[in-house]
Amino acid sequence: GYRSRSAYKLKQLDEESDLLDRGDTVVDLGAAPGGWLQVAAEEVGESGTVVGVDLQRIDDLDEGDVETIRGDMTEERTRHYLREAVGEDGADVVVSDMAPNMTGEYNLDHARSVHLARQAFDVTDELLSSGGDFVVKVFQGDDLEAFRDDVSEAFQYVRTVSPPASRDSSSEVYLVAKGYTESPVTEGD
Ligand code: SAM
Repeated sequence: GYRSRSAYKLKQLDEESDLLDRGDTVVDLGAAPGGWLQVAAEEVGESGTVVGVDLQRIDDLDEGDVETIRGDMTEERTRHYLREAVGEDGADVVVSDMAPNMTGEYNLDHARSVHLARQAFDVTDELLSSGGDFVVKVFQGDDLEAFRDDVSEAFQYVRTVSPPASRDSSSEVYLVAKGYTESPVTEGD
């Protein structure tokens, strides 16, 4: 079985949007307790690599080639370890299920969620190969649209998805961005 119910959300997103392929290198941000890592490891198989990061310790996995880093993704030091773990070839897919500690105050929880999502987006700039895919969880609210616009400039297209497995927590959506174009098209092109 999977370590988290969240595992089924990544399965659904992958089935709908064809994210994870054999041999891929996948980066998973906010990976504890490890459900998404299990799904990613299954999909990429023996020839693939999965690197997970979380503030919390992640128990070792039996599945495939999985490396975990304990750290805060808002800190440069953690990103440094992540870059080293991924290596020069970069990642084919970056997924982020990071979520802030909930205060119950809607605007604050939304703002913190968008901040984490933007950190994950910055990581795509550092690590994602051209043509790669990006999935990020965000709580709905005022700043979602501006964030989505920024993401769509760097990818061929972006969809906003609410997987059936996450219907219970109604304010959360996933942005699924396909086809990383590395840098936005500059004016005049
Ligand atoms: N996808 C995971 C799974 O399937 O097991 C569940 C992830 S859980 C919903 C969100 C995670 O984000 C928490 O484990 C939390 O520690 C992590 N997180 C929140 N802020 C973070 C940060 N700044 N850096 C790294 N991880 C963070």
